[in-house]
Amino acid sequence: MNYFLTEEQQMIKDLAAQIAREKIAPIALEYDETGKFPWDIVEVMAKADLFRVFIPKEYDGLGGGIMEMALVVEELSKACGGISLAYAASGLGTIPIILFGSEEQKKKYLPGLCSGELIGCFAITEPDAASDVLSMKATAKKDGDSYILNGSKIWISNAQFADLALVYAYTNKEAGTKGMSAFVVELKNNPGIKTAPLDKMGTRSSPTGEIVFEDARIPASALLPPEGRGVPYVFECLNRTRVSCAAGGVGVAQACLDAATKYCNERKQFGQEIGQFQMNQDLIAQMTVEVEAARLLTYKAAWQKDQGQLGNTLETSMAKYFAGEVAQRASHATMKIYGSYGYSPEYPAARLYRDAVLYQIVEGTANIQKTIIAMDQLGYRKANK
Ligand SMILES: Cc1cc2nc3c(=O)[nH]c(=O)nc-3n(C[C@H](O)[C@H](O)[C@H](O)COP(=O)(O)OP(=O)(O)OC[C@H]3O[C@@H](n4cnc5c(N)ncnc54)[C@H](O)[C@@H]3O)c2cc1C
Repeated sequence: MNYFLTEEQQMIKDLAAQIAREKIAPIALEYDETGKFPWDIVEVMAKADLFRVFIPKEYDGLGGGIMEMALVVEELSKACGGISLAYAASGLGTIPIILFGSEEQKKKYLPGLCSGELIGCFAITEPDAASDVLSMKATAKKDGDSYILNGSKIWISNAQFADLALVYAYTNKEAGTKGMSAFVVELKNNPGIKTAPLDKMGTRSSPTGEIVFEDARIPASALLPPEGRGVPYVFECLNRTRVSCAAGGVGVAQACLDAATKYCNERKQFGQEIGQFQMNQDLIAQMTVEVEAARLLTYKAAWQKDQGQLGNTLETSMAKYFAGEVAQRASHATMKIYGSYGYSPEYPAARLYRDAVLYQIVEGTANIQKTIIAMDQLGYRKANK
């Protein structure tokens, strides 16, 4: 299907699809089982320039935007939600540097993030501050040419392997929404920074962990300038990265549809393929329509961003919400179609089912997206500002 992508965007999508099909799909079950970080695949993705697609040309990138990032995430997610999440999380740590970093920070970090030599992550969530981002407790206190970071971040994708973390912390709690700041923090070789892995039910090949800052001294140059801009930065970044999260949901939902279609055409009961039964057709028809609708919402939000329509919070939340719901529904339908074999780790249905739930949680839960959408529709608070 032609989605009115540019020639270059279609090439990026095709290349990511090829890597997903040839290099990731064959080992997705193994990585899911072991929960290993896919270093080999990171190298393959780096060689294919996938980390460069959304980074400006002047810092060694290919100059694309949110659409390019979303296309890669969608294709990787078709093969493995975990590997796709690891790729996306590095990107989510990169976007704030592109948007708000100083020239020095961009020159220092973006080429390494392009080549895959540096892996990024973003650290917002804390044990007691998740949907309620502003209630975070992490602090950064200025001390001469340094800041002293204290606090704990949890559920951070890539935490234990990342070289850089985009960390949000209060530099002045009393100043409220004007007191939070953003920092690009080098995680390795700092005695005040410790990471620990977290186990999880799905997207298992993506490493998730905790990052603890205990009087961690970081240079003052780590601040994404100026001080006090953390709140607008966090929401402006989420407003972009939620599109790639939606694309991840679309990829997993498409993988469900592909697997369910294949199984419907292979499995026979009562002397015929199970795809001949109308109740299975009902599931296939619903999945087919919903996956396409989620994709179109996602591409629309990505396209708007890249056209400079940055106030499309409503469209972004619609894409993120719907793609998450569709991924979850498609994975449930696929489990039904696979019957007992859905329960087996040898088939993809169980992994897709566990992976799909993620897209209703990360980067703002389904409830948070619905709140944004409903508030806008009811006229209580316009999202598109
Ligand atoms: C695999 C994985 C990877 C992740 N990666 C990252 C990462 O890289 N970086 C990062 O910073 N975070 C990351 N997260 C954290 C994720 O973004 C948070 O888990 C998410 O924002 C939701 O927080 P919570 O699970 O603590 O839910 P809570 O905020 O505690 O909410 C619990 C429930 O209450 C609902 N709720 C809360 N407030 C409201 C409200 N006002 N109205 C209606 N309902 C509400 C929520 O929708 C949810 O259903 C990751 C999480 C997972 C599982």
